[in-house]
Amino acid sequence: MLWYLAGCIVSNSLGSILLSVKGLRKWFPIRRGFLDFITMQPIRYIKAVDKIDFNIKKGEVFVLAGESGCGKTTTARLILRSIEPDEGSVIFNGMNVCNLRGEELKRFRRLVQTVFQDPYSSLNPRLSVFDILLEPLIIHNIRETNSERKEIVYKAMEEVKLTPIENFEHRYPHMLSGGQRQRLAIARSLILKPKLIIADEPVSMLDLSIRAEILDLMISLRDKYGITYLYITHDLSTARYIGDTIAIMYLGKIVEMGICEEVLSNPLHPYTQALIDAVLEPNPNNRFKEKKVRIIGEIPSPIDIPNGCRLNPRCPYVMEKCKLIEPPFIEFKPSHYVACHLLID
Ligand code: SF4
Repeated sequence: MLWYLAGCIVSNSLGSILLSVKGLRKWFPIRRGFLDFITMQPIRYIKAVDKIDFNIKKGEVFVLAGESGCGKTTTARLILRSIEPDEGSVIFNGMNVCNLRGEELKRFRRLVQTVFQDPYSSLNPRLSVFDILLEPLIIHNIRETNSERKEIVYKAMEEVKLTPIENFEHRYPHMLSGGQRQRLAIARSLILKPKLIIADEPVSMLDLSIRAEILDLMISLRDKYGITYLYITHDLSTARYIGDTIAIMYLGKIVEMGICEEVLSNPLHPYTQALIDAVLEPNPNNRFKEKKVRIIGEIPSPIDIPNGCRLNPRCPYVMEKCKLIEPPFIEFKPSHYVACHLLID
């Protein structure tokens, strides 16, 4: 409940809510072997997402950040209904996504689009740029005449700067650079006039010089069309560049959440601090400035989640109670939430 309230407060202070995730849980059962079966071993689970709550307001870039394997992509798949949750709900524009069927689900899938890390694998290599952009219009029966659809395709190409159009429309994905492919993937999402784009590591495979161009393009489309983004990344540099609100995930839980600039300038959770120390120059006023936080060892298996605070085997500040009691999620500063015993005592 505390997590949900925290999400509400952060987002309400920014504007009206487009997407609300409440108590979302997804555990994947591990197939038992014959020996497990006859010795009646209990079923074990990969606890990919473990009761998370957050809200995304209209027109914002909400960043979900953390190491690989922390549950970010599973969260995106749950929102998209490509997998079903065990518990919890996803409310989009007032509709419970988990209950959508038929035409309503199809409409939802039109309004929520995705941009993936590897545009090459998400684009049909046998279709030209023009046909890749035409395909969603046909699937969703948007406009009836060829000339109307052609006009929409050309407009989308102009929006993402795949111009001059005659130079690009007949090319195939393998004839484009990485940045051009990602522009094409964004155009394909844009063409259906989405309200939300889920961008899963959209620039991590691109050269540094191209990353800022793609992020700038995403921001300009947000400003022009009011598109909302769920931006998933392990890279806090790009998170800081593009994000409005950020939630830091660790082993299936959100451990810190707030306004992006505030969280990344004044991180409260040791895990967030360690992530920042790995990539960003800390704020000189930062309370951790004297001591860099080093998280010890590798991320544990999501099958064997530690008791108490999930970070306790790796945390340099670990206390006895961290091993026994899961820290509550508290509002330590206005609109800045964290789950750590250090900040409670
Ligand atoms: Fe570290 Fe304890 Fe805080 Fe967890 S609750 S982050 S183990 S100090």
